[in-house]
Amino acid sequence: MTELPWLAETCAQLAKLVNTQQLHHALLISGPAGVGKNILAEQLANHLMCQQPTATGHCGQCKSCLLVKSGHHPDLQRVIAENSIGVDQIRDISQFMQSAPQQGGARVVLLPHAEKMTESAGNALLKTLEEPGDRCFLLLQTAHEDLLLPTIRSRCQRWVVSPQLNQHTQRWLQVQSSQMVPDYLLDYCGGAPLKALALIQNGQVQQIDTLLQALSQYFTDGRDLVSLVKKLEGHDDNVALLSWFVRQQCFLHNHPNQVALLPRFAQWCRDEQLILGQNKNLALTTLMLDFYKLLH
Ligand SMILES: [Zn+2]
Repeated sequence: MTELPWLAETCAQLAKLVNTQQLHHALLISGPAGVGKNILAEQLANHLMCQQPTATGHCGQCKSCLLVKSGHHPDLQRVIAENSIGVDQIRDISQFMQSAPQQGGARVVLLPHAEKMTESAGNALLKTLEEPGDRCFLLLQTAHEDLLLPTIRSRCQRWVVSPQLNQHTQRWLQVQSSQMVPDYLLDYCGGAPLKALALIQNGQVQQIDTLLQALSQYFTDGRDLVSLVKKLEGHDDNVALLSWFVRQQCFLHNHPNQVALLPRFAQWCRDEQLILGQNKNLALTTLMLDFYKLLH
């Protein structure tokens, strides 16, 4: 069983389906990045491979479990997504699914970041989804379900791990952390507890706190723009930070121009992605000036 409390119910349902041999051959596990999709899929794969499963999952001791643990089970494949997942990777998977299992049990493919499949890769996967081999299981995962081909979505059974924005998860986060967890952190991470935990563990929460204070201060008095932009430049994930800030401004204040923040922010995000060699300092400075004008 998983130690992530918000996954417990889904894990129990899946375990029951595995043990009664009713599990669909193709699952699409969707939910935001950092909500635990990978842990869920790995655990399910382990259960499917196990030779002596318990009522709740894998035994952890049989030959199959030990092979999975060592990362060398020949009947378990993981598709590695770099920038994209290409058609050759999917053809390899199809071949794997058609070959006989080496350990005589199930064959499982883990396919994280399924949205990274190219269109031809997606089309190549369709055939495997239509004619799966005996005891073959495909476990797709994605945080961007809308980017998948509709034909892929319709051939998979969907399992959604929803964002976690409740007190139970907030408490879980507090227990995992040795420091104070800000109230806004789960919301800031889009309800993804593992993402929030990573920010705590790598010391980024303090930096985010400082930046949010600096942003608030600038939009109160309009001073120290140079120092604010310098701080922003030193931060890794300004998309997440500014997106949170814009959302807060839109929800918290009743300013007639607040909705105009969104398209201006979207334009900055597009430029960040598309304009190679963009002068980041200049782009952030004009963004801040525009935000300031809109809010005053
Ligand atoms: Zn086992």
